[in-house]
Amino acid sequence: MSFQTFHPPVRTLMGPGPSDVHPRLSEALGRPTIGHLDPEFIRLMDDIKQLLQYAFCTQNELTIPVSAPGSAGMETCFVNLVEPGDKVIICRNGVFGMRMIENVERSGGEAVVVEDDWGQAVDPQKLEDALKAHPAAKLVGFVHAETSTGARSDAETLCKLAAKYDCLSIVDTVTSLAGIPVEVDRWGADAVYSGTQKCLSCTPGLSPVTFSPAAVEKIRNRKSKVHSWFLDLNLVMGYWGEGAKRAYHHTAPINALYALHESLVMLHEEGLENAWARHATMHQALRAGLETMGINFLVDGASRLPQLNAVFIPEGVDDAAVRSQLLNRFNLEIGAGLGEFAGKVWRIGLMGYSARAENILLCLSSLAAVLGAQANGDEAIQAALRQLEN
Ligand SMILES: *Cc1c(COP(=O)(O)O)cnc(C)c1O
Repeated sequence: MSFQTFHPPVRTLMGPGPSDVHPRLSEALGRPTIGHLDPEFIRLMDDIKQLLQYAFCTQNELTIPVSAPGSAGMETCFVNLVEPGDKVIICRNGVFGMRMIENVERSGGEAVVVEDDWGQAVDPQKLEDALKAHPAAKLVGFVHAETSTGARSDAETLCKLAAKYDCLSIVDTVTSLAGIPVEVDRWGADAVYSGTQKCLSCTPGLSPVTFSPAAVEKIRNRKSKVHSWFLDLNLVMGYWGEGAKRAYHHTAPINALYALHESLVMLHEEGLENAWARHATMHQALRAGLETMGINFLVDGASRLPQLNAVFIPEGVDDAAVRSQLLNRFNLEIGAGLGEFAGKVWRIGLMGYSARAENILLCLSSLAAVLGAQANGDEAIQAALRQLEN
């Protein structure tokens, strides 16, 4: 047998994540590996914590990257905050809310589910009704940016409702962080997790998390041990905690953290507000182009995420054939629909480094080439350009 070096094709990633990784990050990944307790590495860890506080708009001390993907950040929040028998209200309006329910049950909690239709934002009134009906509830979980549908929920209102009824809040910001405002302290959110491969445009495999002082207190005073050894924050804090004295917990993914650091430095250089504004502008350009092609959005304007554009596949068009042509002819990846929207929508991501003018033009012109004359390609590109010039 003979094996050869793997050289991936160069793609443009406009799906639901991962997004395009900036060349500065590939260079960071290749820097020399040092020890995970090297004083220079600890200096980098402290920088990463500060930069994550910036990205999350928080002063929370416990703000770190979990050494595993977004799903592990989700699990970190649930296994640390849910104790056996706890009642937890989960707002479900898509795939990731369903995963939260799994997490509650596997942590020994009892999930109370607040349902909203896929493609809609979470309805705060329904949450308040559930909080009134279940006064023993201890936690509320919801997804800020539902990547399965492109719907954005009002995180501030939902967190404040949770607090009003003495519940801690767990918020999924995997797709929102750095794409739209995630203001942890202003919301009063208690446990918030994200991912690196969406609007931070870093390589996949890390999950930034942040915990409020109230959440930390709850974790410190648990009656039972956290059932996951690896994700137990009481132990993880021995490595990521304050001060120069750090103890071995697990070997940090050193080079992946170089990349995360670089992506956060880039976010800081651009400025959070500018990053949010760029996502909004790019969304408007893509929207103008797609609508000119007669392609319509799943989510209402008011709760539409700029970074995840779920659009209906035009009548009579073969979903899989179009996506594979985009990939094979133009090296362009867009996402398929999930769950009840499988085969009905495409999910076009404009996340992080993918949210730039040349990607919009590539996406519109490639789609026009694949869909043919009916797509109004030239007019669509003109419509997008007008938005970009605004
Ligand atoms: C991508 C995503 C996750 C899971 O992240 P992984 O890195 O794939 O584990 C969780 N929640 C939302 C909203 C996501 O978009």
